[in-house]
Amino acid sequence: MGVLDFVYKLSPVFMQNFLCTAYGYIENKKRYGKHFRDFLFFLRASDYWDHRQRESYQAQALTNLLLGLKRNNYYGVALSKFSSQDIVVNPFAVLAGLPLTEKKDVFQFFNDIRVSAAGGFEVKTSGTTGTSLRIYKTNEDMSAQTACWVRHRERFNVSFRDLSVNFTGKLVVPSRTSKPPFWRYNAAWKQYLVNMQHITRDNINEIVGFLNSIAPVFYSGYPSIIANVASLALEQGLELHASARPKVVFCGAENTLAWQSEAIFRWTGATITDLYGLTEGACNLSKCQHGYYHEDFEICYTELAEPENLADGRIRGKLVGTGFALKAFPLLRYNTGDVAVRMPSSFLCGCGRRGTVYESIEGRVDDYVLTPGGSKVMRFDYLFKDTREIEEVQVVQPLVDSVTFRIKLRKNAEIGLLEDLLTRRFAEWISADMKLNFEYVEDIEKTSAGKFKAVVSLLR
Ligand SMILES: [Zn+2]
Repeated sequence: MGVLDFVYKLSPVFMQNFLCTAYGYIENKKRYGKHFRDFLFFLRASDYWDHRQRESYQAQALTNLLLGLKRNNYYGVALSKFSSQDIVVNPFAVLAGLPLTEKKDVFQFFNDIRVSAAGGFEVKTSGTTGTSLRIYKTNEDMSAQTACWVRHRERFNVSFRDLSVNFTGKLVVPSRTSKPPFWRYNAAWKQYLVNMQHITRDNINEIVGFLNSIAPVFYSGYPSIIANVASLALEQGLELHASARPKVVFCGAENTLAWQSEAIFRWTGATITDLYGLTEGACNLSKCQHGYYHEDFEICYTELAEPENLADGRIRGKLVGTGFALKAFPLLRYNTGDVAVRMPSSFLCGCGRRGTVYESIEGRVDDYVLTPGGSKVMRFDYLFKDTREIEEVQVVQPLVDSVTFRIKLRKNAEIGLLEDLLTRRFAEWISADMKLNFEYVEDIEKTSAGKFKAVVSLLR
């Protein structure tokens, strides 16, 4: 814990609000300068470019990037196989000839990848495996990515100056606080902050009371946290007044599971959308009003490694991205660790945007249950579909032949036939050769960065 965190924790509420606001102003300097305004202006127009305009923009950006990296200590080695002429003639082919950059490479070759001359500041990323990576960013890098986020919000008629509530894993309200307010305010962003640690059965009445006292245009944050607020409120019959309902809920940082969007929608009635982005900045996809992810081609070029052909021309593979706006810490063919499904190139999205379109992101590849039959199973939410007893569940594999369901039950829920139902469905849909255990918990532990892990493997 840093000194600042310590001071923050001991400060009175008005001081914490002041510090949240100060943080906002400092971030504003990094994100919302002239470069941001110019880039956002450009993004509004390029959003509707046709396929050819997009491709030629990416070819040019990639050419500049690869030529610039010929002298990079890390990427220069692999690029030495290609002449500048090769790069200029077909940058996509040169890129395809480079190895993937794995997270362990970023960790191991940090000093060689980093472009010190570009300056910048250190940023830490959080991975679901718990390994945090260090990278570097410049203010310009931050502005470009932020402009893409803002454009995503504009697709839903929301401005970054609108009043909002952010549901966060960060402890903006110190954990020992037992009396309201369980929220803080960042005046620089007109954003209220509610942190997940205080979203409990005991506090939900106060939290909903607070949410009903304001009129935010949108909510943002982790879907698991927003869904938690919604489920607790629904369970206790606490309504969100019409005047307090957000127009849109922007989810991020983790996959939104079906039961989570259902709960959020039931309680808020809002449009729910999300974007896929990494702190690393190498891969950014933003949803449109039709629910498809469009590649933010202005800041990245995405590929699917180890592609697998699906029905009707869709392709599934490891999502890999090359960032164009990463001056201080370039990443070529960065393996995101997520699996995505891409629509065929003939697909025309109803929103009118062209370019590369993804249907879904399937979640972390490093978290799955391995069955004795050898299948790697990543998604279990369909097992719990239409069950009423479960508030949250985590699937844990402690041994090769067993699986534990860590279940947080809804208030007053009875286990009754739940275990039988899950045992039957598991045997039918996943594997009949695994022993199931049920563990009932008060709370499911989040990762240190506050991410909810739907599947945990203890085998690897
Ligand atoms: Zn679309």
